[in-house]
Amino acid sequence: MKREARKESRHGEATCNTCGDTDCSASKRRDGESEQEFEERRKLASRLCRIRHKVVVLSGKGGVGKSTVAVNLAVALMMSGKQVGLLDVDIHGPSVPTMLGLERETVHGQEGELIPIEVGGLKVLSMGFLLRSQDDAVIWRGPMKMGVIKQFLKDVAWGDLDYLIIDSPPGTGDEPLSVCQLIGKLDGAVIVTTPQKVAVVDVRKAITFCRQLQVPVLGVVENMSGFACPKCGEVTQILRSGGGKRIAEDMNVPYLGSIPMDPKIAEACDNGQAFIHHYATTPTAEIMRNIINPIAALDETKVVDKTTETMRYKEDKHMRIAIPLANGKLSLHFGHCERFALVDVDPTEKKILNREDIEAPMHQPGLLPPWLAERGANIIITGGIGQRAQALFAEQGIQVVVGAAAETPEKLVSDYLAGTLHAGENVCDH
Ligand code: ADP
Repeated sequence: MKREARKESRHGEATCNTCGDTDCSASKRRDGESEQEFEERRKLASRLCRIRHKVVVLSGKGGVGKSTVAVNLAVALMMSGKQVGLLDVDIHGPSVPTMLGLERETVHGQEGELIPIEVGGLKVLSMGFLLRSQDDAVIWRGPMKMGVIKQFLKDVAWGDLDYLIIDSPPGTGDEPLSVCQLIGKLDGAVIVTTPQKVAVVDVRKAITFCRQLQVPVLGVVENMSGFACPKCGEVTQILRSGGGKRIAEDMNVPYLGSIPMDPKIAEACDNGQAFIHHYATTPTAEIMRNIINPIAALDETKVVDKTTETMRYKEDKHMRIAIPLANGKLSLHFGHCERFALVDVDPTEKKILNREDIEAPMHQPGLLPPWLAERGANIIITGGIGQRAQALFAEQGIQVVVGAAAETPEKLVSDYLAGTLHAGENVCDH
């Protein structure tokens, strides 16, 4: 469906009958479908078509760290400058509210819509916000559970998102099946497992489940694989590990990596803090960031959307763009550039006001984000940049535009302001 063709309703949600895409399955009533069913399907489609990438996090069984991976994946994407929603549909153990310190929140609704709760820019909706007690869902029978999941999916007003991360109910039964079928076209699934043999058997089922539903498997994550020393971060293998990797190879799906058992993860979860944000500089956080690379890559080749990007800066009227330089053009090796061009622009008039070139400081890990923030930069246009550096820039409130070509600062900034900057692949991965 085309975004620009949609008509906005009072709350900014699109109405699907104006989409203009005659191939959209929600534009026509299906044989045997009642008027109400068709309305509901259309409503769901109109919400979901404003979300560019939908990724479901699955596990063969509970307790393997599915929600932990879903939360940290969502926060990592958000920290890299994406608009992200996190949907927790795990009716039996919705743990997202606890993990993000939102247990006391109740969800607000307006005219039949559920409004997600925002935490640091991340939009969150969890079944946990709706259940009065954890036992509520246990007494629901099958069709009732399905009805609740459906209503939940159809009523959440996400608005426009780059990513929706869905924390699915565990297993491969009716509940995850309903979630995947209702969402329709998913970009893929991340399957979380633990190293034990029994868990690995469940992964096989989860991969088969995805294949039957034609959901691409983005990869397998082996969680609680070894133990990370709280002092030095070194990982010691306690039990046999590598099962996740073997099964991924066996079944020909990507292996995304292993996350060790790290007491800081459990601590962060219990304290309602996102681990990847609060412990951003730990080796385990680095492992997690590497795991999310293929998911972040779903969104990497893009033309920067002028309207949304420049709108964010309209309010503060100050936009200073930093560009790493080598021989007068953008340096593709950001961490070791000679100088930085700092370009002041008027985002409303879309005009370059001033350019100042400054010597880059001596190379030192983690220094550039605060150094550029101190010099007033709020955007950096760069070639390649590592995930960790992106996270550090996000912490400083600096937006990162990656994958730009070796052009002059004037050309890059003009293209950026005109909305024609082609940001290609992020070539740097360290
Ligand atoms: P699931 O969603 O699969 O049921 P959770 O993500 O809720 O599992 O994790 C279960 C518990 O295990 C949580 O308390 C979480 O803090 C903890 N946990 C998950 N992964 C790790 C890890 N790698 N190291 C330490 N604790 C972890």
